[in-house]
Amino acid sequence: MLLLNSLIKDSRLRISFFVSIALLMLAAPFAVAQKHKPKTRAAAPEPAEKSSAWPKQDRDPAITQIIKDVSPQRAQQTDEKLVSFGTRSTLSVHNPGAATSSQGIVAARNWIKSEFERISSECNGCLEVKTDTFIEQPKGPKDRIIQPTEIQNVYAILKGTDPAQANRIYLVTGHYDSRNSSNENTTDPAPGANDDGSGTTVSIECARAVSKHRFPATIIFLTVAGEEQGLNGSTHFAKMAKEQGWQIEGVLNNDIVGGNRTPGDTLQNDNWVRVFSEGIPTAATEADIRRIRAIGGENDSPSRELARYIHSVGELYDFGAFTPKLIFRRDRYLRGGDHISFNEQGYAAVRFTEYREDFNHQHQNVRTENGIEYGDLLKFVDFDYVANVARLNAATLASLASSPAPPSDVHLLTKRLENDSKIEWKPAPGATAYEVLWRKTTDADFPEENLQRTTETKVDLPDSKDNVIFGVRSVDAKGHRSLIVIPEPER
Ligand SMILES: [Zn+2]
Repeated sequence: MLLLNSLIKDSRLRISFFVSIALLMLAAPFAVAQKHKPKTRAAAPEPAEKSSAWPKQDRDPAITQIIKDVSPQRAQQTDEKLVSFGTRSTLSVHNPGAATSSQGIVAARNWIKSEFERISSECNGCLEVKTDTFIEQPKGPKDRIIQPTEIQNVYAILKGTDPAQANRIYLVTGHYDSRNSSNENTTDPAPGANDDGSGTTVSIECARAVSKHRFPATIIFLTVAGEEQGLNGSTHFAKMAKEQGWQIEGVLNNDIVGGNRTPGDTLQNDNWVRVFSEGIPTAATEADIRRIRAIGGENDSPSRELARYIHSVGELYDFGAFTPKLIFRRDRYLRGGDHISFNEQGYAAVRFTEYREDFNHQHQNVRTENGIEYGDLLKFVDFDYVANVARLNAATLASLASSPAPPSDVHLLTKRLENDSKIEWKPAPGATAYEVLWRKTTDADFPEENLQRTTETKVDLPDSKDNVIFGVRSVDAKGHRSLIVIPEPER
C-alpha cells in the first residue's frame, strides 16, 4: 500500500484510489452478510446458466401432471422400506438363509421387483418387469467381489407406443446395494438411505408417476446392484444392452440425491442438484478424438447435450427454486458411478448428485464417535429434495420419450472453403420441424436468440462455421424437442 501510494503522483488518481479502498472496505461486511442469507435461488453465488429456453406455451400438460404426481411421502416410504432390509450389501447374497431372510440384498431385490409389479398392476400391466441375473467372478486378489457372487439388476420397461420409435430408449437408474465401513461385512447395518436408497427411490417414483401416461418412445426404470464393488451390475446391463443392439439415447443415473441435511451444516443448497456429464466420450476411438480435436468438440459429447437438455426441462417446467447445476466433468474427483458403465458402451449418460455431500454419512458403520454421528441414516435424507430430483428426472424422461427422434446424419458441408455454413440432415420420425442453434465457441450453452427453425432438412446460414458451434434438433407439432445433435464435418 505504501509503495502504491508513493507511485500515485497525480492527486486525482490518489483520491480515486482511496475512494476505491474505502468502497471495498464498505463492501466487505456486506459480502459476509450475503453468505448467511437464507438459501434461495437468488442467493446462489453464481448466475444461472444460459440455455436454449423453450417457449412456455410448449409445456405439455401430461408432463405438468407427472411433476405433480411425484410424492415426497411416497418417496420416504420407499426409502424406509429399502433401509428396513438392514444391509443391502451385494455380498450378503452369501449369508446363510439369504434366499428367505427378511434382511439382506435378496429380500431387497425381491421387494423392488414386487413394487414394480404393483405399479404395473395399477396401469393395467403397462410395465414389463424383468431381472438381469448373472454370476460375477473375482478378478484378482484386490477385487471387492471376493468370491463368485450372484448379482441381479431389476428393471421395468414402459414400451413406446409408436412402432417407428419404440426402439428409442431413455433410462433412469439408481443402485440399490449399500455398504458400511467394511466391504466384507454383510450383517451389520448398512442403511444406505442416501447412497443409494435415494437414487433407487427416484427410479421407482419415476416409474409410478410416468407409467400413468404413454409415450412414442420407450422408458426403462432400472435399479442395479454391485455398484459398491466396482459398478458390476450396471457394467453387465450396459454390455447386454450394447450386445443386443438397444438404442439407448439417454441414461439418467441418480446416486446420492438425498440432499443430505446434517444439523449445523449451513452450506448445503437444497435448490441445486448437480448433473455431471463427460466431455471427451469415454468410448471415443482414436479417429473420434482426432475429429473432436480438429473441430473443438470437447464440450459437445452426447452426454453433455443430455445435460443441457435437463437444464432446458428445468427451465420450461415449474420446479419452484429447484434447478439443475450442470457440472462439465464426468464425475467428482476420485469417484465414479453407474453412468460411466453406460458411457463405456458409447451411450449418453449423466449423473445426478446432491449439491454438497457429507462423507460421515457414506460407507460408514452406524456409530457416534467424538460427538460425530456416522452412518447413512434416514434422518439425514431430505425427502422434499428427493421428490424434486424425481420430478426433474420424470419430466426429463417424459419429455425425451414424447419428443421426435433426434435428426440423424447431421452434416456440415465443408467441401469448399467458404464463409457461410451449410448443414444437412435426414428426416426424423415424428418431427414436423427442425431447429438449428448456434453458440460462440466460448459459451457453455446455446442461447435462445440464436435459432433458425425450418421444415426442410437443410439450412444455409451466413455465420461462419469456423466461428461458432452448431447443433440441430427435431421438434413436433406440440413443441416437444429432441436432444441436440452436433453436425459432423463432411468433405
Ligand atoms: Zn453410490
